[in-house]
Amino acid sequence: GATIGILGSGQLGRMLAQAARRMGYRVETLSPGTDTPTGQIAERELVADYDDLDAIAAFARDVDVVTFEFENVASAATEVAARHAPVRPRGEVLHITQNRLREKRALAAAGLPTAPFEAVDDRQGLAVAVSRIGTPCILKTAGFGYDGKGQVRLDADTDLEWAWRSIGDGPAVLEGLVDFEAELSVVAARGLDGGLVDFGLIENRHANHILDVSIADMPVGEAQTDRAREIAATIMEQLDVVGVLCVELFLTRGGELLVNELAPRPHNSGHLTIEACPSSQFDQQLRAVCGLPLGETTRKAPVAMANLLGDLWEGGEPDWAAALADPAVNLHLYGKAAARPGRKMGHLTAFGDHRDDAMRRVVAARSALKAE
Ligand code: ATP
Ligand code: MG
Ligand code: MG
Repeated sequence: GATIGILGSGQLGRMLAQAARRMGYRVETLSPGTDTPTGQIAERELVADYDDLDAIAAFARDVDVVTFEFENVASAATEVAARHAPVRPRGEVLHITQNRLREKRALAAAGLPTAPFEAVDDRQGLAVAVSRIGTPCILKTAGFGYDGKGQVRLDADTDLEWAWRSIGDGPAVLEGLVDFEAELSVVAARGLDGGLVDFGLIENRHANHILDVSIADMPVGEAQTDRAREIAATIMEQLDVVGVLCVELFLTRGGELLVNELAPRPHNSGHLTIEACPSSQFDQQLRAVCGLPLGETTRKAPVAMANLLGDLWEGGEPDWAAALADPAVNLHLYGKAAARPGRKMGHLTAFGDHRDDAMRRVVAARSALKAE
């Protein structure tokens, strides 16, 4: 049997490894950690830093295809890996999407709409960019941000000196604040033969800048759904992505779709596809990177997902039986030992009679975890 090599070791790698092992593949993972969410599922867990090029070469020699769940792998590492095994998606896709400025420039080059943005290199540049974009706006580090880390909102009276220091004095992007009606995502997969599938428009609600709840099938018109699909397809084709890619979108009050950011891998908002679709986003990633035909994406029933953050563990183990009292609810836990506030520990998925019902049930199940 073939071996899948996964760079990274979090829950995204875990769920990919579960899909891979179900289909009979061997799985190896490389990351700096031990007893990781992915490593617990993989046959082999290699411990090395992502910039240890000798370790990356040895890893790639040992596997039939390299993919990743952690996107901040340097080009040097993906180039070394690519000498020994196909890397899918290719390293250039990571290189672009791991930097907000490169990503936004690639989107602009593809003719796709984003919030207005300016590159910011230093404190002086910030003042210039704010005068161009206007307030309110959001300053984001160009690299290494997730769950809203490395971001600060600027209003007319915000002290720019403080704002610049608060994101760490590095290359950044300033974006106009979008007055959105909703946040949406499209998770799409592209095969080795260029074939494309997607899971439709998912609605995402955030709490404290972290994804809180996702609901499948945003009820917008057919034209908007088609437009979102077209945006995803354009990006996949322009970047020549083989694998899964998520496009995060803002739906403006004027009904326009703007691209917020890209993730060149399965996405938290797509976790509901595990129960809801014949082939999940992880099945699609596996199929795409292995050169297999892609699977069916049609949703079986209305569905919603709620994240379980470490905060839920404060004061003891959550009451799993209470959450599962509703038979429409499924539980996923990622095997992380330490529950820290804000850390993604697992998620719940619930089916419902319609999307609001699914959403109500998944939120009620999560509340039941902490009920006295
Ligand atoms: P993720 O965990 O999704 O990778 P991230 O840290 O990379 O998040 P973004 O997705 O860029 O950050 O922003 C996080 C959230 O902040 C967005 O989902 C949205 O709610 C809000 N946000 C970001 N940029 C803007 C904007 N230009 N206008 C309005 N809201 C924004
Ligand atoms: Mg992000
Ligand atoms: Mg985001």
